Amino acid sequence: MTFTSPLHHNSIKIMLLGSGELGKEVAIEAQRLGIEVIAVDKYPHAPAHLVANRAHVIDMQDRQALLSLIREEQPTFILPEVEALSIEALFDAEAEGFHVIPNAEAVNKTMNRKNIRVFAAETLGIATSPYEFVTTEAELKAAADRIGFPCVIKPVMSSSGHGQSVAKHPGDIPHSWEIAKEARGDASELIIEGFVDFDYEITLLTVRTEEETVFCEPIGHIQKDGDYILSWQPMPMRPAALKKAKEIAKAVTDGLGGRGIFGVEFFIKEDEVYFSELSPRPHDTGMVTLITQSQSEFALHVRAVLGLPLEFTFYGAGASGAYKACSESKEPRIEVPDRAFTAHSYVRIFGKPESHIGRRMAVSLVLDDEIEEAKKRALEIVNQISDF
Ligand code: AMP
Repeated sequence: MTFTSPLHHNSIKIMLLGSGELGKEVAIEAQRLGIEVIAVDKYPHAPAHLVANRAHVIDMQDRQALLSLIREEQPTFILPEVEALSIEALFDAEAEGFHVIPNAEAVNKTMNRKNIRVFAAETLGIATSPYEFVTTEAELKAAADRIGFPCVIKPVMSSSGHGQSVAKHPGDIPHSWEIAKEARGDASELIIEGFVDFDYEITLLTVRTEEETVFCEPIGHIQKDGDYILSWQPMPMRPAALKKAKEIAKAVTDGLGGRGIFGVEFFIKEDEVYFSELSPRPHDTGMVTLITQSQSEFALHVRAVLGLPLEFTFYGAGASGAYKACSESKEPRIEVPDRAFTAHSYVRIFGKPESHIGRRMAVSLVLDDEIEEAKKRALEIVNQISDF
C-alpha cells in the first residue's frame, strides 16, 4: 500500500462521525499511518477532536449539514462511530461515490434493533431470543402474554440501556411502557424480547476485509443499566459454544459486507448461543484490547478500513474497568493513585471537556496471567479513582 502525509491534496483521509473515546483511539491509530483525520461530533473538544487534523461540530442528524460537510472534506473513508446520525446522508454520500465503513446499508440495519433482528433471525435464520415489535401499550401487553415473563422491553432506536426494562409479571407492563415512552420521545416501535437466562454474555470482535475475517478472543462483560462496567478477555468458553458464536458472527458480518471491525454480542447458556445485537465499529467492551493485543480493536479497524492484513498477537488475559464521573464539572479533574500505573496496568483518560454524573471519563486496563486477578485489579483501580 502507498501511504501519504496529512494536509496535502493527495492525502488519504478518514472522517469520524462521532468523536468519543473509541473514535479517539481510532484517530490515533490512523495518525500512526499518516492518515489525515477529520473528527466530527455534536459538541466541541470531544476526545477525538483533540487528536484530529480538523474538528467539526455539527448536528450529525441533519441530513443537509452532514452531506455538505462530507462534500467539503472529501474523505477517502467515512467511519460512523455513533448511531445518532442521518442515515439518509450516508446513503446520499455512498451514491456520490464516498466509501462508508462498512457500508451505508450495514449502518442502517444495525442502528435499529428491528432491522438487525429481522435480518439475523428471519433472513439468516440465526437463533435469538423470541421477539415481537409493538407500537401501543395494548400491543405490548398482548405480546408480553404471548412471549411470557420475564421479558425485556426496549425502544428499537436506543442504546446504552435507554428506555430498557425487564417486566417480571403482567403488572409491570404499564411501568415498562412509561420507561420506554420517556426514552424514545416519539412514536417509534418497541421490541419485546423473551428474557434469556444466560450463563454469561460476550462480545466477539470480528474483523473483516474482502480477503479475510479474523476473530479476537471472546470478551466477557458485566453490564449495569445497559452500560458496561467491567470487561475481560478471554472469556473462558466451551469449545462448542465458541465455534457456534464464530459461525454466527461470520454469517452476520458476511451478510452485512464491507470492511471494518464489528462488535457481535451474544448470550451464552451452556452450549446454546443467542445472537443479541451488533455494532459495525469498535465496541466499548473491546477497550480491553488496548492492553491484551499487539493490534487493539482500533488498530485492527484502521487496518481493515485500509484493506491491510489483519494479523495480530494476543498477549494474554486482561481486563478493563469503566470509570464514570461522580460529579459535575466544567473543568474536570480526575484523581488516579500513582500505583495504578505499573508494568502491567494503566489508566487512559479520555479528556472529555465536561464531567456529568455517570459519564464515562476513563478506563483502567490490567494484564495478568490470571483472568480473575485481572478483573479484580481493574475494578480496584476504578474504585480508587475519584473526580471533582
Ligand atoms: P442491549 O442494549 O440490547 O445490548 O441490552 C443491554 C443489556 O441488557 C445486555 O447486555 C444484557 O445484559 C441485557 N439484556 C438485553 N436483552 C436481554 C434478553 N433478551 N435477555 C436477558 N438479558 C438481556
